Amino acid sequence: MKRKYLFGPVPSRRLGYSLGVDIVPYKTCTLDCVYCECGKTTKLRNRRSSYVSASDVIRELSDYLSKEPKLDYITFSGGGEPVLNTEIGKIIEFIKTSYDAYKVALLTNGTLFGDKKAREDVSMCDLIIPSVDAASEKAFKKINRPAPGISASSVIKGIELLNREVSGKLWVEVFVIPGINDNEGELRKIKEALIRIGPEKVQLNTLDRPGTVKDLKSAGREKLLNICEYFSPLKTEIIGRYGGSKKRDFASSDMKEKMLLLLSRRPCTLEDLSEVFSPQKNDLEKYLKELKNSGRIQSYKGERGLFYRAPEEENKKAER
Ligand code: SF4
Repeated sequence: MKRKYLFGPVPSRRLGYSLGVDIVPYKTCTLDCVYCECGKTTKLRNRRSSYVSASDVIRELSDYLSKEPKLDYITFSGGGEPVLNTEIGKIIEFIKTSYDAYKVALLTNGTLFGDKKAREDVSMCDLIIPSVDAASEKAFKKINRPAPGISASSVIKGIELLNREVSGKLWVEVFVIPGINDNEGELRKIKEALIRIGPEKVQLNTLDRPGTVKDLKSAGREKLLNICEYFSPLKTEIIGRYGGSKKRDFASSDMKEKMLLLLSRRPCTLEDLSEVFSPQKNDLEKYLKELKNSGRIQSYKGERGLFYRAPEEENKKAER
């Protein structure tokens, strides 16, 4: 079955081998974060809608999960905000009732949890990771560039309510961008917000792939270590690059298409791709060359080396 909503499994820095589920059209989001690795938000939205029907996603999931793949998580993520899709609750319920051996994670920007229905929809997740990159409205606008009507205070309040109501784990991610949210005043406000939310842990992230805005810097390790200390007694960790040894060979005849599907959602280096698909870098290099020559992917330099990415037309094809 041709995959439209599932991608990977990808080696996630936090979740091990994670099957991605992408249930909103490419770059439909409530935010337009300066650091977004998926590109600029083209559909900035603040209201939920049934962007993709649950039955279409469930059909794909059934086909994939019936083969009993080894996965650490099934993760709602991708090129937009998954909670914008009002069908998310039905899809999570399907996984937890029909394939309950699999754990479900949700990577979310946390902007929609002021809505009780949105909180109920995600309540069966085993793990939810919302983001709190800013606590002042000024920094929130600068780093997250929200849709109208979304404020830093409403996001923090919504996540606070969510953590009181769900039984699964809740971690909070803070994306640190030097010069925007790493000053003492902002960090103090973020810490106060985190204490109110009460997550199991806080994860510090910084630029790993090129962001939407050029010339953003990533925070150095020393800076992140200082923030870990500053956030004490909150349990805080720095997200490292995936270091697992569970490489699995996903090589197959349609590997090129699978690579393309992944690159349409997430820019990757050759190293990243070899962790997902196969240790045979020579094959991957050959496919990358073919895809590049046919104009289906582009490459550009980032801090970790040369990144490959499928341009917007390929994202549109993946949505069809
Ligand atoms: S980083 Fe996430 S929340 Fe921010 S614009 Fe990209 S998809 Fe949306």
